[in-house]
Amino acid sequence: MKTKLIYDYIERLSNLMRNETRREGAEYGLQPVQLEALHYLSICNRYSDTPMGVTEYLGQTKGTVSQSLKVLEKKGFLTKHTDNHDKRITHLKVSSTGKKLLKKTIPTPIFSQACEHLNEPTQTQTISVLKDLLQAIQCANGMKSFGVCGTCRYNQKNKDGSFSCGLTKESLSQNDVLLICREHENVL
Ligand code: SF4
Repeated sequence: MKTKLIYDYIERLSNLMRNETRREGAEYGLQPVQLEALHYLSICNRYSDTPMGVTEYLGQTKGTVSQSLKVLEKKGFLTKHTDNHDKRITHLKVSSTGKKLLKKTIPTPIFSQACEHLNEPTQTQTISVLKDLLQAIQCANGMKSFGVCGTCRYNQKNKDGSFSCGLTKESLSQNDVLLICREHENVL
């Protein structure tokens, strides 16, 4: 088995990526976890854009996430909105300033350049291998998959081409289908 070698490569990649994120974030006075929280909020759907969603996705403590969200809000990178149906729920939306910041920092410029050196088939193969490994780790840990809505077992394509969620019974837009969700479950 090549488990140790796979682990070593991924650990090295994680360290390099974390260092790059730290460097990019530092230019804007942000720690890596703050930039990662902002990135998560830019790719998740309306069922997942809450402090609890960020906590589950990042695997950080509630206190750390709460502090990070305060910093991001204070710097104008996100805004808070109370849910229309349940006043206890707060949604976190990335502001236009936050979106501009993410465009410059994630993926980091060095990571983007490195990926451009890989040809198209290699990039596709890499995505497939990493996806399989991620799913295996999440399954072994009993963790939430946080997958893309379009790949969820509850995602329903209607006769008229529109989409809906079999879990929440709500309609989904074309954009919703591309976002990640804390309720996502892989197709059995
Ligand atoms: S279909 Fe699945 S991923 Fe999409 S919103 Fe519903 S539960 Fe979430």
